[in-house]
Amino acid sequence: MLKIGQTEFDAIRGHGEETYPHECCGVLLGQMRKDERVVTSIARCGNTRVDSPQNRYHIDPRELVRIQRQGRERGEDIIGFYHSHPDYPARWSQTDLAEAHWLGCSYIITSVEKGKATVTNSFELTGNDENDKKLADEKIEVV
Ligand SMILES: [Zn+2]
Repeated sequence: MLKIGQTEFDAIRGHGEETYPHECCGVLLGQMRKDERVVTSIARCGNTRVDSPQNRYHIDPRELVRIQRQGRERGEDIIGFYHSHPDYPARWSQTDLAEAHWLGCSYIITSVEKGKATVTNSFELTGNDENDKKLADEKIEVV
């Protein structure tokens, strides 16, 4: 289960509308508890994929390190990531799975159809290692 505030939830969806028809991406910060992750803030990232920005996203590792460091100063950990799917359903693709490496983290996907955010889903990256990792459906509770 992923708990997220209405403000952060709306910001994620708004980000996808802003970058349409390209994908947006960002990081979820907060606390990881036993069965749930609680998002307390989000960090927008620039999509560094210039070859195919409408259906790929990539976060610069240096940007990720900076976000992680700033989060720790506020007592927040990286607990997940988000990106948008312009004119494509809010389901993970094989590429999304291949490029997801943070086991135990949440991956939020928002479908943006003709510039309007529609469905937002979350998936938890489960498994023990790279070989048996899976993206499992995860409930989002907007609080
Ligand atoms: Zn995707």
